[in-house]
Amino acid sequence: MDSLDRILAEIAAEMRGMEHRGKVADYIRPLAQVPVEKFGIAVVTAKGETHLAGDAEEAFSIQSISKVFALTLALGAVGDQLWKRVGREPSGSAFNSIVQLENEHGIPRNPFINAGAIVVTDVLLGHHQPREAIGQMLRFVRELAGDDSIGIDEAVARAEQDTGFRNKALANYMRAFGNIEGEVDLVLGTYFHYCALAMSCRQLALAGRYLMDGGLSNGHRLITARRARRINAVMMSCGHYDNSGDFAYRIGLPGKSGVGGGILAVAPGIASIAVWSPGLNPSGNSQLGQIALERLVQRTGWSVFEPRFGAP
Ligand code: GLN
Repeated sequence: MDSLDRILAEIAAEMRGMEHRGKVADYIRPLAQVPVEKFGIAVVTAKGETHLAGDAEEAFSIQSISKVFALTLALGAVGDQLWKRVGREPSGSAFNSIVQLENEHGIPRNPFINAGAIVVTDVLLGHHQPREAIGQMLRFVRELAGDDSIGIDEAVARAEQDTGFRNKALANYMRAFGNIEGEVDLVLGTYFHYCALAMSCRQLALAGRYLMDGGLSNGHRLITARRARRINAVMMSCGHYDNSGDFAYRIGLPGKSGVGGGILAVAPGIASIAVWSPGLNPSGNSQLGQIALERLVQRTGWSVFEPRFGAP
């Protein structure tokens, strides 16, 4: 057995025995039904090999991981102009926090907190109707993963539509500052559909290849190497909300989490990694997902802070 397969199998076995698995998100009703016992991990290497363990083929709600794909599309649409409407500094606050917005005049700290992603969605809607923007996102992730079976879980999108009061507050507040241009309901409807993308660890790791490979997805240039580097930098500093410093400290890789319990992590030049376990820590990041990534990095030396990182 390849040693990477062995490492992943060991980690999956260790995770099965873990007692403290965190708490499944319950503010989006369908997510509350997902069994906390689930655990999957997928690694796609720069050589193009895929390694899986646990529930790596089971689709889950990627939630805020979609913020990476939305950012990529928005940078493609408007380039660096985007940074006039959203910052790229860690917030040190919860993913759905509203407190900084008043002092900072409706400009969210970064594109990976909810407020920032809602602005990014508004930018994408500047060029499309909601139906087109949602279709564009679906085509994009299907192309990235090379898998047309990826879909959107309408029940998850609808549930958020019903209970997303904080997101409605964020969007309305930013609209008052002039930083949301579209109709709030349309912007949020689109944002909730992005969040409701359902993907497996395998599909997500495949979709993350362009960030591992300097902007190349399966050998095709998708974005420039510089843009891939910069998106990775924002993932490293902002990808886990008020838990981003700890994620960098423990794992040392660009990563993005979602309240569905998924994490996409990137070892540039080496591997694209997706992990899923639905129980969350208090910051809304996968409890076991982080532990699994920490163990993977310990056993492979893949942290970007490793002196010989990326060396052959
Ligand atoms: N759809 C979720 C929300 O807006 C995404 C949050 C997350 O994954 N952190 O609340």
